[in-house]
Amino acid sequence: MTFASLGLAAPLLQALETLGYKTPTPIQLQAIPAVLAGRDLMAAAQTGTGKTAGFALPVLQRLSEGEKAASNSIRALVLVPTRELAEQVQASFRQYGEHLPVSTYATYGGVSINPQMMRLRRGVDILVATPGRLLDLFRQNAIKFKQVETLILDEADRMLDLGFAQELATVFAALPKQRQTLLFSATFSDEIRSMAKARLHDPLSIEISPRNSTVKAIKQWVVPVDKKRKPELFLKMLKDRRWGQVLVFVKTRKGVDELVSQLLAKKIKADAIHGDKPQPARLRALESFKAGEIQILVATDVAARGLDIDDLPQVVNFDLPIVAEDYIHRIGRTGRAGATGEAISLVCADEAPLLAAIETLTKQTLSRDEEPGFEPDHRVPMTNGAGQLVKKPKKPKVPGGRAAKNLPSNWEGFDGAPAKPARRSAAKATNSAGGKAPGTSRGR
Ligand code: AMP
Repeated sequence: MTFASLGLAAPLLQALETLGYKTPTPIQLQAIPAVLAGRDLMAAAQTGTGKTAGFALPVLQRLSEGEKAASNSIRALVLVPTRELAEQVQASFRQYGEHLPVSTYATYGGVSINPQMMRLRRGVDILVATPGRLLDLFRQNAIKFKQVETLILDEADRMLDLGFAQELATVFAALPKQRQTLLFSATFSDEIRSMAKARLHDPLSIEISPRNSTVKAIKQWVVPVDKKRKPELFLKMLKDRRWGQVLVFVKTRKGVDELVSQLLAKKIKADAIHGDKPQPARLRALESFKAGEIQILVATDVAARGLDIDDLPQVVNFDLPIVAEDYIHRIGRTGRAGATGEAISLVCADEAPLLAAIETLTKQTLSRDEEPGFEPDHRVPMTNGAGQLVKKPKKPKVPGGRAAKNLPSNWEGFDGAPAKPARRSAAKATNSAGGKAPGTSRGR
């Protein structure tokens, strides 16, 4: 199957040739003809499947016909959860639409609104936006929705995770009822399904990879290690294994900054992406990483989700994510388009419940491979293959009892570790990691 046989026009085929896309990916095979025919779409697809081209190509083709956008008007609206994704999706539209007279633009928060208002005055055919800034612009009359023909929700699950449900409802209410709607989501919760039911018209349903599965081409393993030795272990693995560029995920913004400082102190080129950094600095870090000018990009989950970074051989989970689904999004940055990749998680004892949750979600037991010289004093409890921590037959009495209320009652903390000090630090660390509501300590 070729792109031409899907019905794409010559200017788009020319752009694809320049980009070296030879054959459509499975999601493109299904989505392109359906979107060209004007159908609504509900697609379960993760980053790395080629979903962006799956919607961008047919939308560009449809918009290349018809009237241009009037002043302050837009014809297609792409809603995305993060600023980085907005830039990235807009860049894809620009590349694919290079030979078409279709204008594209991205608006997001964290930067001045005035230039965005100025640009919108001329009208924009395809606007990529984060929901908050879009509504600011709408309320200030900088955007009119009357001309909108197509709405695309990219990473809809993430938008809901980030608390954009109210903004989405407001946007839905303001858009013309007669329109094409394309909904993309890595996972389909009940909330997403009911949104689709209410807002989509007879959608074509596409499921590209099984729900909550991880991509097979990625070799994943866990390196058990004591928490305080993680930086040292990371540096050793980086050196011994001669890793090139690595994307490293850290749980908190502070943790990101600390690791970057440690890397820079060792003269390793590193930079950070997290929600406290101003937008230009985040984009700069991403661009220099893509250009190969920095070796290590350290990121929080929210900042990094959906980032299109090609051919990344290694992704390192310096900390495990608090929300298990983020594990899938993180490791999706490697092993793309059939290439093999490695996802390595440095796991300390108090992260065992997070590891168990990931194993349950991804229906696998991750293999463990201790690094010589870094065997942890505080052992990481084993999981039982069903994502649960293995019960120990007898629990020795420890003064003070079970310290962390959110640990399972059968959880020993560490297999065979000296009970008292180990239990204390596990309880403390688990409280800070696992005791919060999902999302409260994420990077944005
Ligand atoms: P996405 O899932 O949209 O984030 O795309 C993942 C990566 O695959 C991007 O770097 C795209 O440029 C690339 N890509 C998308 N479609 C194709 C294709 N048909 N052939 C080769 N690369 C592609």
